[in-house]
Amino acid sequence: MTSQSLNQISVIKLNGVGAQLALRLSKLGIETTQDLLFHLPLRYIDRTRVSAIGGAQPNTEVVIEGTIRGCDVVFGRRRSLLCRLQDNTGIISLRFFHFSSALRNNLKVGSHLRCYGEVKIGSSGLEVYHPECQFLDPAHPLPLQQYLTAVYPTTEGISQQRMRGIILQVLSLMNEHQLIELLPEKLKKSSLTTVLKFIHQPPNTAAIEQLNKGEHPSQQRLAFEELLAHNLSLLKLRQAVQSHKAPPLCNKDHLRGRFLDALPFELTGAQKRVSFEIQKDLYNSYPMLRLVQGDVGSGKTVVAALAAIQCVAAGKQAALMAPTEILAEQHRQSFEAWLNPLGIQIGWITGKVKGQARTQQLGAIKDGSAQIVIGTHALFQEEVSFRDLALTIIDEQHRFGVHQRLALKEKGRNDDQIPHQLTMTATPIPRTLAMSAYADLDCSVIDQSPPGRSPVNTVVIADCNRQKVIDRVQKACTNGRQAYWVCTLIEESDLLEAQAAEATAAELHLLLPQLKIGLAHGKQKTGEKSATIAQFKAGKTQLLVATTVVEVGVDVPNASLMVIENPERLGLAQLHQLRGRVGRGKEESHCVLLYGPSLSQQGAERLKIMRQTNDGFKIAEMDLKLRGAGEVLGTRQTGEMAFRIADLQRDGHLLPEIKLSAELLLDQHPLNAQAIIRRWLGDGERYGQV
Ligand code: ADP
Ligand code: MG
Repeated sequence: MTSQSLNQISVIKLNGVGAQLALRLSKLGIETTQDLLFHLPLRYIDRTRVSAIGGAQPNTEVVIEGTIRGCDVVFGRRRSLLCRLQDNTGIISLRFFHFSSALRNNLKVGSHLRCYGEVKIGSSGLEVYHPECQFLDPAHPLPLQQYLTAVYPTTEGISQQRMRGIILQVLSLMNEHQLIELLPEKLKKSSLTTVLKFIHQPPNTAAIEQLNKGEHPSQQRLAFEELLAHNLSLLKLRQAVQSHKAPPLCNKDHLRGRFLDALPFELTGAQKRVSFEIQKDLYNSYPMLRLVQGDVGSGKTVVAALAAIQCVAAGKQAALMAPTEILAEQHRQSFEAWLNPLGIQIGWITGKVKGQARTQQLGAIKDGSAQIVIGTHALFQEEVSFRDLALTIIDEQHRFGVHQRLALKEKGRNDDQIPHQLTMTATPIPRTLAMSAYADLDCSVIDQSPPGRSPVNTVVIADCNRQKVIDRVQKACTNGRQAYWVCTLIEESDLLEAQAAEATAAELHLLLPQLKIGLAHGKQKTGEKSATIAQFKAGKTQLLVATTVVEVGVDVPNASLMVIENPERLGLAQLHQLRGRVGRGKEESHCVLLYGPSLSQQGAERLKIMRQTNDGFKIAEMDLKLRGAGEVLGTRQTGEMAFRIADLQRDGHLLPEIKLSAELLLDQHPLNAQAIIRRWLGDGERYGQV
């Protein structure tokens, strides 16, 4: 196998790797020796030096040496063997729950021992459970490890030691076999071979803390390549989509002007800028791929309507998809109010549209008399066929995965043509995250609210002051305002959550008998839920008790108070979304975060951020810091954003350079680009196929 490079050598060629181990390795995505080299340590432990027993800290891993001072079987809650080990700085206990009589006999008072393990606080003070032990002979000192010990991600049936062993074997192969350097000279920072040798086997002089934070230059070199791989993969997806044609949509009929003239308000500067960007994209004869970010209430709907109008003016159809029935219904109302007077017909498809109504809608979509079709993901279904779909708009896109985005694109595929695509999200995405998670999309930001809004005033109150909060609700409602009372997720169960909302509604009924109270939760039938929300919208109920179903997009300008129970259970981005349901009218609005008795220090910090700012971008940055990318992007995308070594928070500063490098590679070294993607993402279709 001398002439082969490491990405061509199968793991089965390694000594000691048989079919069974190879199968287990493949579960970790490891097929070749290159895959093993890029199977990177999670962290490092230091077995290169002996620590003083007196200085041992709980929850750290240590190597200690000492003399056995006592060894007894003790009967606590569980029988165990307790051995006391002393050096000239202190004494510590070793505890074994499983032990053989041989071990018990060997641990003799007076003998010398070297142990390795994690220090815990136990019933006898500091203890090490089941340490690895070696007996010492003072005449022949045992050598210590020369290298820091790497700890790898692994799977059942492959021990750390086994994993280390095979990776070391591959490291030794690196002398005679080539590891192909995929970064062109211009981007190369240091030799990959040197970097990988260091990362798998750092010398005992290496800075372990820096390594465990992932901040060592060798790790940064790899993080760069990994982020580059993700970026390349998304850019390729984008290239593939844009290699298709899309119908250029020219503005005819002055529809746009007529729409804007009839609109009861003037567009904000940000709305104008973003819709101009979209307008230009739609003139192109290849598909638009644009993401519009705008905080809650920034006015994304009208921007979507303008895009749809351009499409209709060009004689084509547009589709608008919302994540829930309630939101879809709301869009339908806005679109009908704005566009019916201009003679534009709106079609309507959701799971609820059945029987003859459905047949009729399907017919109108097919013959093109429905010019703009609004709905939920039911729009994807095979029976829905458009006459000439040229634009798809997806609202609140963080609720949909990349795969769903791609599915809707398939809908309008027509020979080599696919529709333009506009996605809108109310979750502000920190720039670094947007640059990596949405590298396949152009981004526009609506960074301005319509005039006349006053920021929501947020207060944080303990549940023991609940009565005061109830009084506030009463006051607001008797003054002609409306209020939300939101019950949050209980241990991931929407059933329990629904029950909590029911109980709270019953409680508030008793305490506020003069108010009309509605109840909306995820366990209701969709019809019942939307009816409740419609009643609230129409002002027929004054207080809406709800679960987080009201999180997205519900628009009731008269609601000026929101109470959120147990806000500590939610992420900041989600709290911000919820809070965005108030502050939509001219009245000053308030949000009460009613926290439970077990609020942690970190929880209190997070609620403080909510009190301090109404800026969704700031909140998203904080959320990214505190809870990581998964929280900010929504759970769907967490898996897609799992990195081996990179960390967006830590390595975000690399992204501008990565963006440029990715473009350079795709342009000048397309084969290397492909190989880098393969190296880091495997052959799997992580970002979906085109
Ligand atoms: P979101 O960005 O959260 O989807 P919407 O599009 O629902 O926001 O807009 C929120 C409210 O603001 C709606 O009632 C909408 O009619 C109104 N609105 C949008 N743009 C403007 C504007 N430029 N001036 C005044 N009101 C506006
Ligand atoms: Mg909206």
